Amino acid sequence: MSTGNLKQRLTAAVGPSAVLDDPYDLLVYEYDASDEVIAGNHQPDFVVLPETAEQVAEVVRIARELNVPVTPRGAGTGLAGGAIAARGGIMVCLTRMKNVLEINYLDRYAIVEPGLINLDLSVRTTPDGYFFAPDPSSQKACTIGGNVANNSGGPHCLKYGVTSNHILGLEVVLPNGEMIWTGGAAPESPGIDMTGVMVGSEGTIGIVTKAMVRLTRVPEDVNVLMAPFPTIDAASSAVSAIIAAGILPAALEMMDALTIQAVEAAYHAGYPTDAGAVLLIEIDGLAEAVAESTEQIVTICKHHNANEVRVATSQAERDLLWQGRKAAFGAMGRLTPNYYLQDTVVPRTKLPETLRRVDEIGRDHKLKIANVFHAGDGNLHPLILFDRYKPGELERVLSAGTEMLHWCVDVGGAISGEHGIGLEKKDHLTLMFSPQDLAAMAGLKKSFDPLNYFNPEKVFPTGAGCGEIDSLKKHARWEKMGIHVV
Ligand SMILES: Cc1cc2nc3c(=O)[nH]c(=O)nc-3n(C[C@H](O)[C@H](O)[C@H](O)COP(=O)(O)OP(=O)(O)OC[C@H]3O[C@@H](n4cnc5c(N)ncnc54)[C@H](O)[C@@H]3O)c2cc1C
Repeated sequence: MSTGNLKQRLTAAVGPSAVLDDPYDLLVYEYDASDEVIAGNHQPDFVVLPETAEQVAEVVRIARELNVPVTPRGAGTGLAGGAIAARGGIMVCLTRMKNVLEINYLDRYAIVEPGLINLDLSVRTTPDGYFFAPDPSSQKACTIGGNVANNSGGPHCLKYGVTSNHILGLEVVLPNGEMIWTGGAAPESPGIDMTGVMVGSEGTIGIVTKAMVRLTRVPEDVNVLMAPFPTIDAASSAVSAIIAAGILPAALEMMDALTIQAVEAAYHAGYPTDAGAVLLIEIDGLAEAVAESTEQIVTICKHHNANEVRVATSQAERDLLWQGRKAAFGAMGRLTPNYYLQDTVVPRTKLPETLRRVDEIGRDHKLKIANVFHAGDGNLHPLILFDRYKPGELERVLSAGTEMLHWCVDVGGAISGEHGIGLEKKDHLTLMFSPQDLAAMAGLKKSFDPLNYFNPEKVFPTGAGCGEIDSLKKHARWEKMGIHVV
């Protein structure tokens, strides 16, 4: 079928204002929030913006009939290239499906469409005493569908758990165009846990068209503490000591000296610029427990050489402290033209030695590295700063990033803490999984998508068919820039 006929069919399915094919319109859909030189950029042939699940199903049926690749997309804030149309085809962008369909405070759930922005749900329910707990730092922009697909985390996931802990059920359009519901409001769902299969599958086996999400009671009281330390080591030891004392903060975040510099220059959040590291700690719960934990944490931080411990006294002060942390990636523009954000996770006890190793890797490769991360759950985000136009820098960045992954896996961690695999890390999956493990995952994908047309070239390592093509393209692009990848 010609592209003209395909356009006609898509237009009939979703309406003319919901089909984009002008190259200028498509330009913004070539990327997600990952670095273009790392994950690549690919233009879809069409972007469709459906408004109902039935429209999504119809688009998928057309794509399947014609064997045209389909790439689901939310807000495009993903950091692993998951929402890039690696083989062109149809991008199904869910951002027009953003309604809250039902709120049930008695059973503590909401049913929402996938394009709803994460924070918008909590804004809607907080006045009634409830919130949606998963809070990626991108929560002002990212969608709940994207959170589900990536099983996203966030600062408050230390206490409340990642997205999978908050998804009760899903409506999904499968690659064969059929629509299913998984899970539901009941505490247990018999049969195979299809919700579990879908959450974290990165858009490779279905498009989420509705999500039944858990609503969590807003805690009675909350305190936010900011503790600057002379060194990262001192801050890391304080993190371990807080957890070892049996305290479970709602969030426990760390920023190093470089990050503090960038954030202060951009937002004036009030972090001391002479500190080696800052911990941002939030405690919530019943007022008495919050007061008691606050006291304990202040004592522990001081014992580990905190220069001071400031407890925010107003909502405005709490918001400002959090704004600095949540917008830290954006502030990196103050330090560097480019950064490669590595996302890994290690057992919490391995944090101090891992941070020392990250620093060593940076020095070995003559690269500056800023660290801003969810310290409480061992989820690291070393930001490797570079200038893509400086000869030789990108090779050093890539090899530094790979060394970090090797280290993290060797100490019992994983190659991604929360951002997913996408295009960026698919070739690193072999660091963690045996051929048998990978074959089992591929078998699952195949059972839903035998034609391999659903978000193709993602997650599975190169060498498994079409993955090779993408890798070759990527290497060819690097070669053009004078970068030789071994
Ligand atoms: C500044 C910044 C801070 C961030 N902080 C965090 C953080 O703290 N924690 C964290 O985990 N992540 C974080 N991220 C990464 C990103 O925001 C999350 O992965 C987020 O969940 C992606 O949502 P999205 O709507 O932008 O999805 P997209 O980027 O559009 O897509 C992500 C993946 O989901 C798939 N997808 C999207 N919608 C659907 C759907 N309806 N059905 C099926 N598949 C779908 C896509 O195919 C793709 O594979 C951050 C990103 C930025 C830019």
